[in-house]
Amino acid sequence: MIALIGIGANLGDARENVLDALARLGRQSGCRMVAASSLWRTAPVDASGDDYINAVALIDTDLDAHVLLATLHAIEHAHGRERPYLNAPRTLDLDLLLYGEETIDMPALTVPHPRMHERAFVLAPLLEIAPETIIPGRGLAADFLASVTDQAVVRLDT
Ligand code: ADP
Ligand code: MG
Repeated sequence: MIALIGIGANLGDARENVLDALARLGRQSGCRMVAASSLWRTAPVDASGDDYINAVALIDTDLDAHVLLATLHAIEHAHGRERPYLNAPRTLDLDLLLYGEETIDMPALTVPHPRMHERAFVLAPLLEIAPETIIPGRGLAADFLASVTDQAVVRLDT
């Protein structure tokens, strides 16, 4: 199954945390890295704190969606992720954006990620590596970019 993972961090060495998350995903058994986006510097959305570093990874995985999410949480945990309050600054956040063309509608796992189409910090890196992506139930991901131009995102060179 092809899955898309959204990665973000804005605490500690955010850049290092995102790069390490990409490396861990690539080493994860049952997962193969197909493509990783550049790092993007983005302003917080519905949140306070420093700018975020974001990236998106496209993986090919044998893991069931819930097992994959548990794996993502384990990577967050390895970086000391804490959840003191909603949308708090975070050392590392990994979200399951898409799992093939599947739709999953549970509180613990909602796929496609319900807010991915309204977030420039997801769309910009996603379109960099998978410009033809369709968001099941919504349509072509690229069609949503025009509605998020008010959100500042900058691609980093390294
Ligand atoms: P944020 O929405 O800021 O990413 P958290 O990372 O703390 O917040 O996630 C909150 C909850 O969202 C988690 O307990 C997780 O089970 C649930 N969740 C639901 N759908 C998804 C998804 N597609 N990817 C990641 N987490 C999800
Ligand atoms: Mg999350």
